[in-house]
Amino acid sequence: MTMSEIKQRFSADELAELNSGFESGGPEDVLRWVDDTFGDQAVLTSSFGLEDVALYDMYWRINEKARVMTLDTLRLPTETYTLFDQFQLRYRVEIETQYPDLDAVRAMIKEKGFNLFYKGIENRKQCCGVRKVDPLNKALAGVDAWITGLRRDQGMDRGSIEIVEWDEPHGNYKINPLANWTFEQVREYVDANGVPYNELHDRGYPSLGCAPCTRAIEPGEDIRAGRWWWESDPDAKECGLHIVEAATR
Ligand code: SF4
Repeated sequence: MTMSEIKQRFSADELAELNSGFESGGPEDVLRWVDDTFGDQAVLTSSFGLEDVALYDMYWRINEKARVMTLDTLRLPTETYTLFDQFQLRYRVEIETQYPDLDAVRAMIKEKGFNLFYKGIENRKQCCGVRKVDPLNKALAGVDAWITGLRRDQGMDRGSIEIVEWDEPHGNYKINPLANWTFEQVREYVDANGVPYNELHDRGYPSLGCAPCTRAIEPGEDIRAGRWWWESDPDAKECGLHIVEAATR
């Protein structure tokens, strides 16, 4: 029996039944089930965007010791670090912070420069790999379930996500409690519950990421238009963290 078979607790039919029930419930129902099923073997992976802070607030109301993990790429905006501090004060929780391997960062910079990502999509993917994907893969090796703030209407491959998915490459469950929510619903939740959020959202940043790779968008622009805006292929605008082929089934 392989490791993934040991950790795979639900059959395809059971998963389909779970998802069918969750589609008509709310994200809190999903989080309650996650807490009951996985306990401290589940973690919310957060880039501290609006979806993530709303989700953590819901999760914390269910379990004040709910885990939250983030990736510090070492290139985040100052406003994001400010939010980390506010968040820890508000929820009295330690943010489990993952960092890139410094030897790998050093070697990449030595070979290609500090701002290599502006010099071609391959360089950008390499930087995302070193600073985000590798540390995330390492961190996820130790959990049974990871919770994300992905929504279907964010476009790209996200349109087909399920609320609960078996994540074969990581050998665990990927949970997307906000899959069927809109941005407006997230915003309403944050406002109604006084959830601390990144002030960049009020300056035209619907999507947050590293400082050199994220800009504000104009009204009417696609919500991901501010990410790697110098690249012409809209289908390439993923950093590799949520590639659906790699993260579902
Ligand atoms: S978003 Fe930009 S700076 Fe951040 S890891 Fe990706 S390429 Fe590097």
